Amino acid sequence: MSLLAIALALCWFVPVPLVGLGALALAALSGLTFPDVDQFVPLLRHRSALTHSLLVVLLCMADRRLHPVAAGLALGIGFHLAADCFPASMRGFATVKVPLAGTFDTQGSYMWLAINAVAGSYVFGMLVERLYDPQVQIIALVGALLLGATYLAGVPGGYRALAVYAAIFWVGWRLHRPTLE
Ligand SMILES: [Zn+2]
Repeated sequence: MSLLAIALALCWFVPVPLVGLGALALAALSGLTFPDVDQFVPLLRHRSALTHSLLVVLLCMADRRLHPVAAGLALGIGFHLAADCFPASMRGFATVKVPLAGTFDTQGSYMWLAINAVAGSYVFGMLVERLYDPQVQIIALVGALLLGATYLAGVPGGYRALAVYAAIFWVGWRLHRPTLE
């Protein structure tokens, strides 16, 4: 969370592209663990839909200055949700809880996590494409791949998520390859 605070402050007070890229990296790191802050927030149950979604990303997208943070958070949260898609069994602890509304069933939880995970990578790609030159886009992409591989190789369910990502990445690369001239 402190990484996220630093990233937000950097973007807000030093709106320079290079600083933004650093903030993006910090936000991506904090995004990996962000969804599980629901365990420490009163009134939220674990796997709350509020934190296991792109809600915080949308909030950051409201202000242009915070777009690098939004991109990083979308990436990191997407990886976290992708790993959460592959629990030992999608029951009890593993299902997604909606405040005041109850709990998603097994199928609903899969859908919620998967849609938000894919949307996370998509929003990251979209923002990076918009914010940076092709060279920097490549750097961001390589960083994203390293972060994803490192994180997913170390968490439960990660390897299966990694296989899904490999497929998605391949399609995304075919459609949106940055052009260097
Ligand atoms: Zn989680």
